[in-house]
Amino acid sequence: MQTAARSGIDRLDAQLLMLHALGRSQTERAWLITHDDELLDAATVRTFVTLCQRRTAGEPLAYMVGSKAFFGLDLQVDQRVLVPRPDTETLVEWALELTLTSRQPTLVAQAIKVLDLGTGSGAIALALKHSRPDWQITALDASSDALAVAQGNAQRLGLQVDFILSSWFDALPAPAACTFDLTEFDLIVSNPPYVVEGDPHMAALAHEPKQALTSGADGLNDIRQIVQQAPSFLRPGGWLLLEHGYDQAGAVRELLSQRGFTKIQSRLDLAQVERCSGGLWAG
Ligand code: GLN
Repeated sequence: MQTAARSGIDRLDAQLLMLHALGRSQTERAWLITHDDELLDAATVRTFVTLCQRRTAGEPLAYMVGSKAFFGLDLQVDQRVLVPRPDTETLVEWALELTLTSRQPTLVAQAIKVLDLGTGSGAIALALKHSRPDWQITALDASSDALAVAQGNAQRLGLQVDFILSSWFDALPAPAACTFDLTEFDLIVSNPPYVVEGDPHMAALAHEPKQALTSGADGLNDIRQIVQQAPSFLRPGGWLLLEHGYDQAGAVRELLSQRGFTKIQSRLDLAQVERCSGGLWAG
């Protein structure tokens, strides 16, 4: 543990890495603390030192231990996907607070249809499905690697989500070409890439997939495209909720307003930063 402290690794990370080196679950910190006078064998020490070196070099803890908790779910993650952030739970909480009524209230059994764009590890889609098993959720991603991770998580957690390989809306049936039922969603959510290309902040994110992070000179290229296209896939009265960068709330609200969304608003993350913005498509 002193090795870790000397390398500048914080106490919680060091404890989680030690549990990993010992082959124990990430939930066993109490065990670790109550056994802190036990001797470690040489192989465990070597594994722990290597893990500390990787952590000091900036590798996310989640990749090393292979999992990350999100909205009460244990998600398996690796280099193929962005590590789910606690800030993104803001988006999930907001989605769950919306009063969504089915497009055809007379059909009592008609499920609420939700689309998660750029699902990555599946975090948002799976958190929503876990909280609302009655919602019918489709999740897409442009990366087949990411979809494999998301599908693995869905299977392990026993959550039924439909996955589609698609760059934003490209692979969805064109609204005009099929019955409106297939393409009209009650809610579209997304945590798209939104970091400015060349942002110094990217140095700290070097281990994560760049295509999940950056989006042009102002970080808004993907958000612009989503805001532009989403109305074709939303039923009248449906919502679009987007995560964005710490300084992009005003710009995203403006984009939503220009496109004709109403009830436009933003939500704060855990650091009290405006992290998500969204609006209603009145049709
Ligand atoms: N929240 C991430 C970060 O800045 C970025 C995630 C994203 O681009 N969607 O660390």
